Amino acid sequence: IIEEQLHGALDRNEFEVVYQPKIDLADLKIMGAEALLRWNNPALGSVSPSEFIPIAEQTGIIVNIGKYVLTEAISAANNWHKNLGRDLNIAVNLSPRQFRDADLVPFIGRTIDEYGIDGHCLEVEITEGMFLSGYQHVNESLAQLNALGVNISMDDFGTGYSSLNYLRKYPFDMLKVDRSYIVNMTNEGTGKELVIASIAMAHSLNLKVIAEGVETKEQLDLLIDMGCDYAQGYLFSKPVPRHALEGLLVDNVDWY
Ligand code: C2E
Ligand code: MG
Ligand code: MG
Repeated sequence: IIEEQLHGALDRNEFEVVYQPKIDLADLKIMGAEALLRWNNPALGSVSPSEFIPIAEQTGIIVNIGKYVLTEAISAANNWHKNLGRDLNIAVNLSPRQFRDADLVPFIGRTIDEYGIDGHCLEVEITEGMFLSGYQHVNESLAQLNALGVNISMDDFGTGYSSLNYLRKYPFDMLKVDRSYIVNMTNEGTGKELVIASIAMAHSLNLKVIAEGVETKEQLDLLIDMGCDYAQGYLFSKPVPRHALEGLLVDNVDWY
């Protein structure tokens, strides 16, 4: 049923992009946001991305949905630049299937030009699954994105094979430490050590580090102590619509 409803959902305007702020741990201010897709369908209600993204990927529908997310996010970045004079870093999740679309990188280039944003304001998040997808041209695509000034981020780090080789071989700028590590940080065991090691490793490769799914003050304090660069999570804000994120920016909330 999900697959049935996915066809045409874009034309029926059932998608929305929401934004979760990313906090700079140096000054605890918002430095950017991650764009996250929401789907509200009359028959199915609101469906979680973890349910429909895999189906959109299998069927290839993700190619068009992904272009919609990119356009929304780039247009939002342009808006925040115009309205607030701020260059935020907007991250968009890309799935492996999107890289099989020869138009992906040209589309990103055109859209950046069209909205007149700096390439550095855009970040793409990919997971290790990308490298297992067997797609040959990931290499060139990432190099081309890098040449456009677009940042490249390794999402969900620690959940897959965590091959350190990928981090060296491709032009990554950012490592996102998976929420499961952040949750375990305050438990007994080696959770904390794994986050410390990930930060040290990333910094030695000249990558910035962002912690995902930060929910408690205790986690935040630990991450600041560890020298983590950025954080996002419910402690700061859930993903919110474009205008609500603008509100958070105007309020210049002090999160501490
Ligand atoms: P992700 O990229 O790792 O995104 C982080 C997920 O964690 C988001 O779930 C976010 O709402 C959630 N989250 C953020 N802070 C917290 C927290 O403090 N606690 C908890 N428990 N969760 C938190 P969401 O929006 O349901 O997205 C799930 C996944 O779906 C994403 O994981 C991403 O892989 C995929 N996804 C979402 N939007 C897109 C999209 O536009 N394109 C593609 N290809 N994938 C997307
Ligand atoms: Mg992500
Ligand atoms: Mg993630």
